[in-house]
Amino acid sequence: MHHRGAHRDLGWCPACPKTEAPLGHSRVSHREIGWCGHCHGRDLAQEAAAWRILATLRDETPTPARAD
Ligand SMILES: [Zn+2]
Ligand SMILES: [Zn+2]
Repeated sequence: MHHRGAHRDLGWCPACPKTEAPLGHSRVSHREIGWCGHCHGRDLAQEAAAWRILATLRDETPTPARAD
């Protein structure tokens, strides 16, 4: 499932295909996001926004067996 809000803001979401980091690019960003702030058409602000979206989506993952 692609994430609509992320696509609206960044044209990307965590479900999008990942690409290998070329030399000089952020390997961790390419592994998790699929691109980085050094990629053509991207900047570091977009990379930071993508990390925020990733963190938000992880927070939204339902946690099983709530005590209440
Ligand atoms: Zn997507
Ligand atoms: Zn890159």
